[in-house]
This record gives sequence, C-alpha cells and structure tokens, in this order.
Amino acid sequence: MSMRAAVQSRPDDVRLRLHLAELLLDAGDAGEAIIEIVDALRREPTSELGRALMIRAVGEIGPIRVGMPAPAEFDWDKAEEQLADMDNPLNLFGPLVVDQPFDPTGPIPAMPAVPDAPAVPDSLAFDVVSSSVRLADVGGMAEVKKRLEAAFLAPMRNPRLRAAYGKSLRGGLLLYGPPGCGKTFLARALAGELGARFLPVGLHDVLDMWVGGSERNLHELFVTARRAAPCVLFLDEIDALGHKRSQLRDSALRGAVNQLLTELDGVWTGAEGVFVLAATNYPWDVDGALRRPGRFDRTVLVSPPDEATREAILEYHLRDRPVTGVDVRALAKRTRGFSGADLAHLCETATERALLDSASTGSMRLIEMADLVGALDEIRPSIGAWLATARNVVEFGNTDGCYDDLRGYLKREKLL
Ligand code: ATP
Repeated sequence: MSMRAAVQSRPDDVRLRLHLAELLLDAGDAGEAIIEIVDALRREPTSELGRALMIRAVGEIGPIRVGMPAPAEFDWDKAEEQLADMDNPLNLFGPLVVDQPFDPTGPIPAMPAVPDAPAVPDSLAFDVVSSSVRLADVGGMAEVKKRLEAAFLAPMRNPRLRAAYGKSLRGGLLLYGPPGCGKTFLARALAGELGARFLPVGLHDVLDMWVGGSERNLHELFVTARRAAPCVLFLDEIDALGHKRSQLRDSALRGAVNQLLTELDGVWTGAEGVFVLAATNYPWDVDGALRRPGRFDRTVLVSPPDEATREAILEYHLRDRPVTGVDVRALAKRTRGFSGADLAHLCETATERALLDSASTGSMRLIEMADLVGALDEIRPSIGAWLATARNVVEFGNTDGCYDDLRGYLKREKLL
C-alpha cells in the first residue's frame, strides 16, 4: 500500500501524515507537503514536528522570481491576465508589478542602533497561544471571511497560486469596526484555520515613552513572532501609532512607525511563517504612513452583527451551556445594536441568574428563556458612542471614499 493510501485509510494518524509530508518535502514537493501539514496541525495544533515541517515547507516555496523559468505546467499568460483583471475576486492587490524583484526569505534588515534604551521590561513577555477556534465558529461576516480566504488561506492551500501572487502579497488587511464585534475573534479563527499559533498584541502596550524603547519593543515582538512561527501576529489598536491619539512626541512616534514598517517588510509574504493582521476601532486616527499602498492598504469593516449573525453568535455562546427552551431567533430580533461582546455578556449574565437561582433554591435547574430575557433588561448595547463618531466621519471626512462600506452599513441600518 502506498504511503498516501495509508494516510487516507488512517486520516487521524497525525504522525503518519507528517511522515508523508516529510517524504514530500524531501522529494521537493513543498506544495503537497503543506496541504498535509495543515491537515495534521488542525488535528493536533501543538505538534512540534508539524510546526517545524510547516516552517521548512513555507520557506522552501518562496515566490517565483522574475527571470527564473516558470514551471512548465504553469500558465503565466493566464495568471498575468487574471492579475490585471480588477474584477477578478482574487485580485485584491492591484495589477502585478514585475520590475522590483524581492527575496522574502532574505535577511531581515539590520535594526537601527538604539543607544541607552532601557532593556525590554519583563512585563512585555508576549503571550503566544494556540487557537482551536475556526472560521466556522465566527457567526456571519461572509464578506470578511472571503477577504481572509483570498489574502491568506487560498495562497496557503494552493502553493502555485501563492507563487504566482507572491509579489502581490505584500501589504495587509486592516480590520476596523466598533469594539467587541469580532476582530480579535476573527484573527484567532484565522490562526486556527492555518494551524498556526496566535500572538495578539495591543500596540498601546508596546509603545514606550523612552527614546528608542518603542523600537526595541517592536523588534522584540517580531522576534517572538518568528520564533513562534507558524504564527498569526495580530496588531490591535494600531491607531496608537496615530498622531491624533498618541501621547508620544512626534519624533518618537516617527521612529516607532518606521520600525514597524521595517519589521513588516521582513514578514509580509508569510515566507517566515508569520502572518500579520492589524485592527483598530478608529481607522481615521491611524498614521497615514501605515495606510499607503503596500502597507495596511486594504481596510475591511467588521460591522456590528446583523440579525442572522446575532443568532449565530448566541448559538455559539450557548452551545456548551445547560439550556432548555431558548428561542435564539426571538433573542436575535430583540438585540438590534448589540455587539458580539454584548451578546456574549448577555449569555453569561443569564447563566449567572440560573446559577444563583439554583444556589438559593438548592435545586439545580437549566438556563431558560426567562433568564435571557431578564438579562436583556440589565444590558445595554455598548457601541452607541462609536456609531456617533462613525457617522461624523462618513458625513464630513469620507472625501476619498475609503469609508464607503461604513456609509453603506450606516445607511442600511438607517443611521445616516
Ligand atoms: P475590541 O475592538 O474591543 O478589541 P473586537 O472587535 O476585537 O473588540 P472581539 O474581542 O473579537 O471583538 O469580540 C468579543 C467577543 O464577542 C469574542 O470573544 C466573542 O466571544 C464574541 N464575538 C464577537 N463577534 C463574534 C462572532 N461573529 N461570532 C461569535 N462570537 C463573536
């Protein structure tokens, strides 16, 4: 029996699957190997061998460089046609530019010297976690999921596609939207899909008032991410690097922005197994330098959940709790304006009610619809202030149309 047939007959045998991946890598077929490794890491996210093989496989693919002969079976003309076609759903990156070859596996640019900067404090030990959340766990958000699929998952699943689009993978997604509507949850789910670790960081925690401190912390962060590869690095609160909100002096801020851009240059293509996503509640405050082409140039609105999404979120948060007779559809109707976090809070409050009741009567009972309806009286939607600001931005600051999706959302919700 061939090794592949053996794997098919024992799909849950992670060791066997990784052995097949190793053989494929030895034979020079990194593409097929990645497919097997991703599958193995889904089944066993903590497998050290799986991670090591993933790093090796991703490193071996690299983009096809200009001037190198393309693989015989790859249709370059067709690929270039697709890349020039702005209506192609995969072409989120603009037309292919072929005059500046780059080597994503090359050395990371040397760090600028940081004289007399204080050492990285212990409190900055970054927490890398493994993620069992998958995109299917994220309620709704079809459009956002499609973007994540095109930017990260399709190229990983199909190495040839990745090779063809390699150059265009420079630049990244900036998720934006009101607090608690699932940006972090989505990034965690992306890590789960990729079989990667998850490293979430609020940029406020990285910035430092001391000269050179922010640069050093940012460098440390990317070193941690590379060590944890394959890893999704989630840069939250990226508006902290914006002039309007930052407490840092102008020169300190510039240094931090430049350092971030330098670090990003080393990891954009995912060649080192580091995938970067950024998020903010206030995209209008993000430093302009970070939003230029080739940087965080594609903004994706993560809007408050609509009714169907609220239903999915409620189901997700009640799925492991002892419930009876709960009508999630009716609840979804009654929770217009609630964020995902508000809905999670609602489910927790209802659980607490049932628990307290059980404790006071001495007899254990399940969570009922009445607990959730009672909890509804205690919880108010938390995103009113954000929506008020968003309305102002769309009305007075949307001159280049970059918040058209936000305008569309506000109009649909009759908030504009
Ligand atoms: P912030 O801007 O405050 O960082 P956020 O947009 O990153 O917020 P999350 O932390 O991802 O929001 O969401 C808060 C919680 O709400 C999540 O942990 C999750 O439990 C729940 N949640 C939000 N959106 C969804 C969703 N679409 N499906 C399931 N749960 C969701």
